[in-house]
Amino acid sequence: QLDKDAANHVGNVLRLREGHPLVLFNGDGNEYPATLHKVEKRAVWVQVDAKLQMGCESPLRIHLGQGISKGERMDFVLQKSVELGVTEITPLITERCVVRLDEQRWQKKHQQWQKIIQSACEQCGRNILPTLHPVTALSPWLQQSTNELRLTLDPRAEKRMADLTLPTQGVRLLIGPEGGFADQELYLTEQGGFKSVLLGPRVLRTETAALTAIANLQGR
Ligand code: SAM
Repeated sequence: QLDKDAANHVGNVLRLREGHPLVLFNGDGNEYPATLHKVEKRAVWVQVDAKLQMGCESPLRIHLGQGISKGERMDFVLQKSVELGVTEITPLITERCVVRLDEQRWQKKHQQWQKIIQSACEQCGRNILPTLHPVTALSPWLQQSTNELRLTLDPRAEKRMADLTLPTQGVRLLIGPEGGFADQELYLTEQGGFKSVLLGPRVLRTETAALTAIANLQGR
């Protein structure tokens, strides 16, 4: 039996009926070709026909550290960055973030974002869920030990992102919220081994910057 959200997607959104083939995934990296067995208003049963090791994962691992932006902007970044193949996302609280919530509300937000990520995977055919890390303050995130190439996207940087040579061990991308980074934060990113890079001569909205940077990395 499918869980509530998957049953709703199959029965009410896609309106599939008994006998229809579909492909299931549960985040373990496999795909499960299946057939719809029984569809009721709030419950759906399937017969799993096979287990296939497949996927459309990018060979480049990208961890997006995204300064939290307001409402739909953040939802948009999560949805589109999953479609573009990111493997990890950390929502970051920075000095100029305007969204301030208590612990309980951050947890609710986390669940809401997790659902957006799952739907994006269903939509684009990814069968491994990207990891959504808990909301974190910028400074401890910068201090995490990693061997990924670390990049801060900054409209005042001199080096262009397009001129970088890509590493094989993955990339950690840091994008500011609507108001960008404070000078002190940019100093901390440098101390944490992050290189500041530029996307182009225009200052992009935070969601445009995130998607442009990911597309640039995936397009090489
Ligand atoms: N006035 C802010 C500033 O100068 O940082 C503008 C912030 S911009 C709306 C939000 C974020 O998008 C920035 O912190 C940066 O991470 C990214 N961004 C926007 N345009 C960019 C560009 N041309 N190159 C690199 N990053 C950019």
